[in-house]
Amino acid sequence: MWCKYDLGGTCSNTEGPPDSGDAVRIRGSVGKGGQNNATDVITIQRALNQIPGQQGGPSPNLSVDGKCGQLTIAAIGRFQNIQFNGTIWDCLVDTNKKTLARLNDLLGRGSSAMMVAGSSSGSTGVGASGGSTTPDQLDLARSLAKDAERRINQAVQRLQSAEAARLKSNRTAADQQLVREIDWHFKVSAAADPASQVRRIREIYMFMLSAVRESNAGHRELFRAGVHSDPTAIAFAAYGGFFSTIERDRFVFITPIFRTASSGVIIHELAHFCGGNETSGRDIVHRASPKPPPRGTVQKEGVSDYASQIPFHALTNVYSYQVYCFPEIPEFAVP
Ligand SMILES: [Zn+2]
Repeated sequence: MWCKYDLGGTCSNTEGPPDSGDAVRIRGSVGKGGQNNATDVITIQRALNQIPGQQGGPSPNLSVDGKCGQLTIAAIGRFQNIQFNGTIWDCLVDTNKKTLARLNDLLGRGSSAMMVAGSSSGSTGVGASGGSTTPDQLDLARSLAKDAERRINQAVQRLQSAEAARLKSNRTAADQQLVREIDWHFKVSAAADPASQVRRIREIYMFMLSAVRESNAGHRELFRAGVHSDPTAIAFAAYGGFFSTIERDRFVFITPIFRTASSGVIIHELAHFCGGNETSGRDIVHRASPKPPPRGTVQKEGVSDYASQIPFHALTNVYSYQVYCFPEIPEFAVP
């Protein structure tokens, strides 16, 4: 199951993204004498590994380590040699050149890699929403991911302070506010074992933090360009994608209409991404939205509004993780 975040700011479950349409994209050149940014190298290593040997794919597969060493350079050369009959053999995949275009053609992704550098060719035709995700949109997602990291960090710190406050016999006004927050968003005091409720929330936030940190540090690409059959979708992600062994699930997809000023979308998708998958019983789903205040609304997977969630629902409610990261927004505040 996947979550689709739409233009109106609401979310719903969806089948997976289309297999085609998510073009292989790089921000800089990869290979001999290339810029070799780690995330780009990973993209090319993954793409080459999906090419059958007789079409020029590496054998054995390259290790996907983000380092452009001799094996990766040789694999690019081998791919070029077989694909272009020796006419191109510079061992370099450039941002909008033939080698990348051929990789995309063979993988059935996008119309061609020529769209990569934000070209104006226009008629990419990669899905119902039309067009293709631009590098600017991916960069916007990446910059929002930095704000997401900062906010999740603060949420973890507030959660820890709240847990300390919860255990005090004499609470200051600030302590009381911290406890009210975790009781409103995560129903901590109502849980059979409040300490374990806090531990599990913290665990999810820590997974979210490691996913977004890896991405922000350039160790791993979190975002991928993609199209969705619903033209109003701005982003989508797989439940439990963080743990998935399926390559396609390990991304938050950014669509051609992605345009937002808030990291809320990123935090929302990260929460789905870092909970369990739908067979785990711990998948983070849409239980209840805090909007409109004061009670919010029941969602498809919920049985009560935001105010009266049971602790298990709060623990697995994507909106709880999202809005706890935005304490300054009045409509998310504890009523
Ligand atoms: Zn969602």
